[in-house]
Amino acid sequence: MSRTTDVAVVGAGAYGLSVALWLRRRSSDLSVTVLDRGEFAANETGRCGAGFRVQWGTVGNTRLCLESLPDFESFAETYGHPDGVEFKQDGYVILAHTPAQLDQLRRNVALQNGLGIDSVLVDRDAIARLAPALALDGVLGGSFYGRDGSLSPFRVLDGYQRAARRAGVDVRHGVEVLSIAPLGDGFTLATSRGALAAGRVVVATDTRIPALLAPLGIDIPVQPYPNQAFVTEPLAPFLGPCVVSFQHEMFVNQTPRGSVVVVASDRERPLRSDFAPTSDLFPRAAARAIDLLPHLGSARLLRSWGGLYSRTPDMQAVIGETAVAGLFVALSGAKGLMTSPAAGRRLAALIDGEAPPDWFAQLSPARFAGGTLDPEPAIV
Ligand SMILES: Cc1cc2nc3c(=O)[nH]c(=O)nc-3n(C[C@H](O)[C@H](O)[C@H](O)COP(=O)(O)OP(=O)(O)OC[C@H]3O[C@@H](n4cnc5c(N)ncnc54)[C@H](O)[C@@H]3O)c2cc1C
Repeated sequence: MSRTTDVAVVGAGAYGLSVALWLRRRSSDLSVTVLDRGEFAANETGRCGAGFRVQWGTVGNTRLCLESLPDFESFAETYGHPDGVEFKQDGYVILAHTPAQLDQLRRNVALQNGLGIDSVLVDRDAIARLAPALALDGVLGGSFYGRDGSLSPFRVLDGYQRAARRAGVDVRHGVEVLSIAPLGDGFTLATSRGALAAGRVVVATDTRIPALLAPLGIDIPVQPYPNQAFVTEPLAPFLGPCVVSFQHEMFVNQTPRGSVVVVASDRERPLRSDFAPTSDLFPRAAARAIDLLPHLGSARLLRSWGGLYSRTPDMQAVIGETAVAGLFVALSGAKGLMTSPAAGRRLAALIDGEAPPDWFAQLSPARFAGGTLDPEPAIV
């Protein structure tokens, strides 16, 4: 391969495919090439827990999700994907087990309400009505928003990839980008299939971003944080909304097909870059899951997988131009499925020369150079 393209996007996960698609939708005379070393969905997007919520505690995270919500609600039409994405909007309940957690949820709801989202604080009785299967020992209250929910990451990726190809994006799997070097007023990419010259480059390789940008002197602070997911056999519907419990370090969702997906974090685990499931976490996480949802005590496990959260210092996305002109970064900050429509669309606009709104400009990599960060408090 020895070719040229106007924009090269490295990474065909939710972030890379979304920005590539929106670039072509903005300017059909721009050639856009996406390169991914893996196969379809062999990435963090394919390993994620499928949750969508606008209930966050920072303006950046909340706005990215708020702008993405209509895309998922109209995915079939917006992305020409007739099967849709199995968007189940039974809401999200976020539980507080301590006064500090409840205060934080109160602040988050105030922020969300200020952005036009009618999320609410709920007491224990209301939670019991919303999700009768939950064990509420020690729960002081929570927050709820009815348009939150879950969706299929595979369908989202398939929708993006098909729409991108239809729009004229050249999406190539099985091509690893080995290095990126400035060349003239553009870049040259050394890949496992030869060189590619590009006018501009977007690096969307999530936790692997430093491997390509550090050699250029660009420091994007991201740490790979291992998480694990478990899924049960399909069960008769019993859960209703998705549930987040900080106390249990857990997200739980019953999919439209009946399986219960549990995503478990473990704050005691060391950061590391491999995503092999660990046998030590499972017994502890299973006990926590049964404590939260006693129904799971008799459920059979179908499979389990590990994955990496891209943890940034403020748990927000990093999206924008780096210190090298023409070289852009699109890093999810661990919620890249739900934020991908707005992240891709906004970054495409920025690359196309449109000035971003203030809140989006604040997600730029430049924020780490100084000033105070606005850390996301509502992450499990
Ligand atoms: C267990 C778990 C549960 C999660 N749950 C949720 C959830 O409920 N909701 C949510 O929104 N998010 C969730 N996340 C986070 C979400 O999965 C990620 O934020 C998102 O998938 C990141 O998307 P991406 O496109 O940036 O990265 P990816 O999907 O990982 O795509 C990056 C791509 O870059 C490619 N690549 C890497 N290096 C190179 C290279 N050198 N050359 C070419 N290609 C390369 C990889 O092959 C990969 O395909 C979860 C994550 C985990 C681990």
